[in-house]
Amino acid sequence: MNTAVKSVDVSVVIPVYNEEDGLESLFARLYPALDDMTKKTGRSYEVVFVNDGSRDRSAAMLREQFQKRPDVTRVVLFNGNFGQHMAIMAGFEQTSGACVITLDADLQNPPEEIVNLVNKMDEGYDYVGTIRRQRQDSFFRRYASKAMNRLRERITRIHMTDQGCMLRAYSRDIVAAINSCREVNTFIPALAYTFARNPVEITVAHEERAAGESKYSLYSLIRLNFDLVTGFSLVPLQAFSFAGIVISLLSILFVIVLAVRRILVGPEAEGLFTLFGIAFFLIGITLFGIGLLGEYIGRVYQQVRLRPRYLIDAVLSEAEQGESTQGGGDRTGRQV
Ligand code: UDP
Ligand code: MG
Repeated sequence: MNTAVKSVDVSVVIPVYNEEDGLESLFARLYPALDDMTKKTGRSYEVVFVNDGSRDRSAAMLREQFQKRPDVTRVVLFNGNFGQHMAIMAGFEQTSGACVITLDADLQNPPEEIVNLVNKMDEGYDYVGTIRRQRQDSFFRRYASKAMNRLRERITRIHMTDQGCMLRAYSRDIVAAINSCREVNTFIPALAYTFARNPVEITVAHEERAAGESKYSLYSLIRLNFDLVTGFSLVPLQAFSFAGIVISLLSILFVIVLAVRRILVGPEAEGLFTLFGIAFFLIGITLFGIGLLGEYIGRVYQQVRLRPRYLIDAVLSEAEQGESTQGGGDRTGRQV
């Protein structure tokens, strides 16, 4: 594990994947906002960028930014694309702040809000979630996300009004707990919530993506939501056992009805397509159940293989005296 030498008040962790169009404006707003916080409240800060295997100029731009502000900047460079949540986990390992903030690189959450989260933490909360005041995403994203939110609320014990908003603040204790997790597929805000003692939510501004486009395809959004549900609840599996019980009971009833009918009215031959209908319905449910089992088994499989969750090419930090090559802790990185 790469423990930071100096400890600061606020660490900001930002995953970056192909964000060359927006990084300059992010730097131009983030650092002044944080300097302003330091000036007003005396809190020190550090920014940890994690380049998630970008194929554009993002990595080079992060290196440049590190040269400009090495005192408050760290950069973790992955050697592949391991996903936003793995990037945040790698970033967490590099932080030393009493309060750790996650922020997206695309400026959808204004960096000027960070100070509000930090102030809220000072009131004694250990997890500050956020709700986007006016969400600037496509209609489909808003609607689908609302539906998923509702489903998740029902079957997990995690209460997040707005699960998609990544601008959040976590206490050192929560980050330490997350650092001790070895999850492969996870959703950081939900994982953090399971460790939170005193969570709260505040409303923040939301802007349209400043540049570039969303890095999530429909497919990866669906995968992410599966992670969110199956990673935190066994209810879907249990629902299947219950459905199985109910369906078995109903078919026993059905057989009894048919038997009685045969005695009273004689054998029946009509209703062939009704039978097809029922059979297809049951086959559909069975296939869905097998698929769902597969979702869990696939995750168990990924977890038991104990492969590195991500590979780190280099960590740029002043404490390491320039560039260093570090693994992200036991089993999480390549030790070179
Ligand atoms: N991101 C990442 N790895 C990925 C996909 C996204 O590090 O594989 C980063 C991305 O650069 C951004 C954040 O995660 O900083 C959120 O991504 P995006 O804005 O595309 O998601 P959306 O806001 O559309 O949910
Ligand atoms: Mg975004």
